[in-house]
Amino acid sequence: MPLTLHNTLTRRTEEFIPLNPGEVKIYTCGPTIYGYAHIGNFRAYIFEDLLRRYLKYKGFKVTQVMNITDVDDKTIRDSQKAGVPLSDYTAEYKRAFFSDRDALNIEPAEYYPAATGHIPEMLALIEKLRDKGFTYQSEGSIYFRISSFPEYGRLSGMSFESLKTGARIDADEYEKEEARDFVLWKARRPEDGDVFWDSQFGQGRPGWHLECSAMSMKYLGETFDIHCGGEDNIFPHHENEIAQSQAATGKKFVHYWLHCGYLLVEGRKMAKSMGNFYTLKDLMDKGYDPLAVRYTLLSTHYRQQLNFTFDSLEASAAALKRLQDFITALASVKKTGECHQIENLIAKARSEFEASLDDDLNIAPALGAIFTMVKEANRLIADGEMTIAGAVKILQFLKSIDTVLGALDFSQPESDAEIEELIYLRNEARSNKNWNEADRIRDKLTEIGILLEDTADGTRWKKVK
Ligand code: AMP
Ligand code: ZN
Repeated sequence: MPLTLHNTLTRRTEEFIPLNPGEVKIYTCGPTIYGYAHIGNFRAYIFEDLLRRYLKYKGFKVTQVMNITDVDDKTIRDSQKAGVPLSDYTAEYKRAFFSDRDALNIEPAEYYPAATGHIPEMLALIEKLRDKGFTYQSEGSIYFRISSFPEYGRLSGMSFESLKTGARIDADEYEKEEARDFVLWKARRPEDGDVFWDSQFGQGRPGWHLECSAMSMKYLGETFDIHCGGEDNIFPHHENEIAQSQAATGKKFVHYWLHCGYLLVEGRKMAKSMGNFYTLKDLMDKGYDPLAVRYTLLSTHYRQQLNFTFDSLEASAAALKRLQDFITALASVKKTGECHQIENLIAKARSEFEASLDDDLNIAPALGAIFTMVKEANRLIADGEMTIAGAVKILQFLKSIDTVLGALDFSQPESDAEIEELIYLRNEARSNKNWNEADRIRDKLTEIGILLEDTADGTRWKKVK
């Protein structure tokens, strides 16, 4: 089945067709490292992780770029307030971001370009825009003239008449009502301290929107497949990225724009400025498993707004425990022979899982299919009908869907189920006369201290010190 995705640009759910067959290039707006990321931010990163993992599951080669915004209004404001050099100030938040990413089992992107490392690329982009007549200078800053780009407003669905042409805005972030000429290069101000760069446009620093255009095109090319962010990125950030990039290159910038809904707290967007946020550390300090946090953020469709509650976190922990208990129960199965129901159970779960995710990453029925399978397989275990061969097949299926979910723990290499699984796979390899594979598995077992003995009654194993 083809994958379909909802494109904010066309407001339709469309079949995903990459520019180059088999390859996907994705840009995901990353953290502004002026503080610890909250779980609202991580909702966006986990939705992007689901997208990335599912594309890989479907066999695409994925190249993902996530920028690190280490210079903008907020990083400068807060580092100046703290009296600390900008790079020292942001270093701690960058470290914490990567540590949270790992705890939440978010797969690393291929590139994490930092804005401060790409000033020449940004200046080159401004030059291009200037040479093509899209910019003007005022009080030492360079602005993008939105009236020179007729498509301005298309992504967010704003009508051009509502834009205040000629009015300028210096701030990186602004409200929807304030569509204005936005800043590309900001002249140095006294309150910026030592945060500025020398350039052909005078001393100053780049605007936030420009950072993403320059870095995405550097790593992914002038036209690429998918650009993601939270819904607050649609305007002005992504609108401005489209204007800058397409004005400069004359080419379509991005084919599919995907945006996730907000994580809410009591009906309001979780935001640092509102003070209504939790960091991952806050939740871990309360004793919650980061994978339960991941599951909470993952298990609602990405385009729906999601209200964060501790009840939902508890429910996620319970759902994961049900799956982990099932994995443990599979390990206790001792019966030999085939279990014919299993093939059907797995095939049904797999096709529902895939059909749901193919439908714009519709995660809830995908998870529903897994829990239905678990329920029925648990019944087979309780009735004594499950066999080792069946358990091994289910375990392999769970491992394959967990490449997408990233929420399960199979890390018990010395557990009996794991050993039985390897022995089963080795016996299969032997019966297929695949001796290399059989030897490889035996060596792997030897490495973890398991010795095999092939007897007339099957393979026996024992642990050696
Ligand atoms: P920022 O660090 O503010 O640039 O945000 C980083 C990412 O988090 C962006 O993609 C935002 O759209 C996203 N984001 C911020 N707050 C929320 C929220 N409450 N729910 C979902 N995504 C959010
Ligand atoms: Zn961005």
